[in-house]
Amino acid sequence: MTTPSLLILAGDGIGPEVMAEVRRVIGWFGDKRGLTFDVTEDLVGGAAYDAHGTPLTDETMAKAQSVDAVLLGAVGGPKYDALDFSVKPERGLLRLRKEMDLFANLRPAQCFDALADFSSLKKDVVAGLDIMIVRELTSGIYFGEPRGIITEGNERVGINTQRYTESEIERVARNAFELAMKRGKKLCSMEKANVMESGVLWREVVTRVGADYPEVELSHMYADAGAMQLCRWPKQFDVIVTDNLFGDLLSDAAAMLTGSLGMLPSASLGAPMENGRPKAMYEPVHGSAPDIAGQGKANPIACVLSFAMALRYSFDLGDEADRLESAVSAVLEKGVRTADLLGEEGVTPVSTTGMGDAILAALDESL
Ligand code: NAD
Repeated sequence: MTTPSLLILAGDGIGPEVMAEVRRVIGWFGDKRGLTFDVTEDLVGGAAYDAHGTPLTDETMAKAQSVDAVLLGAVGGPKYDALDFSVKPERGLLRLRKEMDLFANLRPAQCFDALADFSSLKKDVVAGLDIMIVRELTSGIYFGEPRGIITEGNERVGINTQRYTESEIERVARNAFELAMKRGKKLCSMEKANVMESGVLWREVVTRVGADYPEVELSHMYADAGAMQLCRWPKQFDVIVTDNLFGDLLSDAAAMLTGSLGMLPSASLGAPMENGRPKAMYEPVHGSAPDIAGQGKANPIACVLSFAMALRYSFDLGDEADRLESAVSAVLEKGVRTADLLGEEGVTPVSTTGMGDAILAALDESL
């Protein structure tokens, strides 16, 4: 088998700082588990703009298309705020998502027991929570035509259009069912079929795809009721699949059930490539955190857990992903905290590198 390939795009702000710890973790898997990756690195976002005058060069785009997985840090920062929209750092990220056609965005909401006190919900509601939201990422109301602001009579009208084709719904639904098969075999689909025709079609297509997955228990919920249930008793869910707009809201809400932004990984998956692996990009949910960049304060866990998702979803190394996630959990159990996770009195925060050291030590202990 060929060595799996990985393109690292560390980006801006704390991106390179958290990615440095992921590089050490990748090195650990090579040294201690014999898992080698063909790693290449390149620039994205502001760093690419500084070097090339564009947030993503065509060469980097071509590399991203040819590797098994892309691992991205974060892009953006105040230095680039005044740039024209067409060359802003975020355009680099959007180009990657669009040209790789990453239509399924996976956002886990997982509550490590040691951090259950961080949630705004009661400890027993969130402790042990482990759900996955699959959000359709490349269609729906953010892309539908017609759109714009027009003038009708003597006032202006803002227009956006929710539009989904059957094939767009089918491919993301299939992705969610496959995921449910690898997890708790429970899938809840959320839309607003009570008031939106696109929701009626969504429900029909998801139900039809469900016939191919008889082992998965499928349920449907209106997205507003889903939002309430996520706050009331989130542990009733395993995998949730929903459209771009509702997924944007529901995944942010679910993520925050679990505490800090510095803990949240994500994956964006596309169609299978020739080798059967999906097109894939993994990245922390957080941004470039200019307020703490360069100070060694950033929490690298979101980026480390994004690599764990790559192990599971791109490289079929679920056991090794479990090993890495358990190492992170063990570190948190021991009370090791970066500054963003401070709550308890008398705890001295560790630096970004200190958290990396602790994760590597916990990985060693896992052997
Ligand atoms: P942000 O996620 O960068 O930061 C929000 C807050 O969370 C800050 O106080 C920051 O210090 C803290 N934080 C974030 N990640 C952390 C970590 N790993 N450890 C410790 N603390 C962490 O969001 P923002 O401040 O709204 O945006 C800053 C820049 O990042 C902007 O230019 C924005 O456009 C960009 N951005 C990029 C992405 C991305 O690359 N995917 C996502 C969101 C924002």
